[in-house]
Amino acid sequence: MLTVAQALEIVLANAVPLPTQMMLLGPDVLGCVLAEDVASDIDLPPFDKAMMDGIALRSADVRTGEAELTIIEEIPAGKTPTKTVGALQAARIMTGAPIPTGADAVVMIENCTIDGDKVRVKEPRIKPRLNILDRAKEMRVGEIVLRAGARLRPQEMGLLAAVGRTSVKLQAAARVAVAPTGDEIVPADVKPGPGQIRNSNGAMLLAQVARAGGAPTFLGIARDEATHLRKLVTEGLLYDVLILSGGVSAGKLDLVPGVLAELGVEALFHKVVMKPGKPVLFGVVRSGKVKDARNKLVFGLPGNPVSSLVCFELFVRPAIRKLMALDPGPSWVNAKLARDFPYRTDRPTYHPAQLQLTDAGWTIDPTAWFGSPDLRGILSANAFVLLPEGDHHHRAGDNLMALNVENE
Ligand code: AMP
Ligand code: MG
Repeated sequence: MLTVAQALEIVLANAVPLPTQMMLLGPDVLGCVLAEDVASDIDLPPFDKAMMDGIALRSADVRTGEAELTIIEEIPAGKTPTKTVGALQAARIMTGAPIPTGADAVVMIENCTIDGDKVRVKEPRIKPRLNILDRAKEMRVGEIVLRAGARLRPQEMGLLAAVGRTSVKLQAAARVAVAPTGDEIVPADVKPGPGQIRNSNGAMLLAQVARAGGAPTFLGIARDEATHLRKLVTEGLLYDVLILSGGVSAGKLDLVPGVLAELGVEALFHKVVMKPGKPVLFGVVRSGKVKDARNKLVFGLPGNPVSSLVCFELFVRPAIRKLMALDPGPSWVNAKLARDFPYRTDRPTYHPAQLQLTDAGWTIDPTAWFGSPDLRGILSANAFVLLPEGDHHHRAGDNLMALNVENE
């Protein structure tokens, strides 16, 4: 049986960044990765620009720290100056407006007293270029301002607009299909009958896909019946990643492994030494049974909600992130145990916990929890502490690794 680290290595080796795509810039591409170098089509600022509301003047006229000047023009932002500022002359200027020829400094309006076309200026710290942002100080026309690989944050989006880009080549979001399986699973808007259980994995996994940066699609609940499962899997293989939950262990009605094999999905692992989890399947489409499905990735996650959630964070999220050329993670934190915590387990166990940054560094505090079906029990957790196999009396202050699941 594989360790988590070995299994993750197999997943990452099979997740190859998706082809790039020209996309319109809008809030929906926030977080995507740029797939081209971007050059500016203009100087920025395009002209020497006033950084303050005030008086544009010749600094030499205020050498003593004081001067009385004649205002020859008013220049609001958006207007081009028409006059040259000569000796003992000045222009009233607004933030963002172009500096008129002749002027080499702007004195802020708070240091000026205006009376008709006369202005008294008091500025003891005058020097050339005061309050002026020089043309092309930020960037020159033709200069590369963003490199391929940059992740689009709000500031990158603003800069792309500043250099005239409304569309750009991006690493597209991975398209991810989600299909829970199980005859006992009913949609959330149905009151469960005898033996039935609501579909919490669907809502949870779709949200995990979105949080990882992928584009989620819900395919529906697959019945524990080969024909129906085959139909949903065939549809799911049109996406970059297919996530199934449930039906993946060795029970009589666990049809997932067989149906996947039948449709050309080669299982690269089916069991990982971990808790919760263990039956977790990862496969890649090798043969061409389903059209255009080659190299598509398939995950069969265990049905219990917390197992599903943990396996997603350990294996699926890294795959989605790598397809999108993002840092795959997962993100591990070395933390000190907040209290004594004796724990006995036969497999390395991911136990829900509160991860916190304190004055003494990261601390981790396991939360009360009764096992893999207990989704409510992990509401107060923001991480999973990794507890090694065996019978251990973990003590307050011991160092343990924690899986941080709340990154963005
Ligand atoms: P399975 O892996 O199919 O044997 O399912 C294991 C357990 O997880 C069973 O008790 C299921 O009822 C439960 N389970 C499976 N799928 C879901 C789901 N989509 N939402 C909530 N619980 C589920
Ligand atoms: Mg089942």
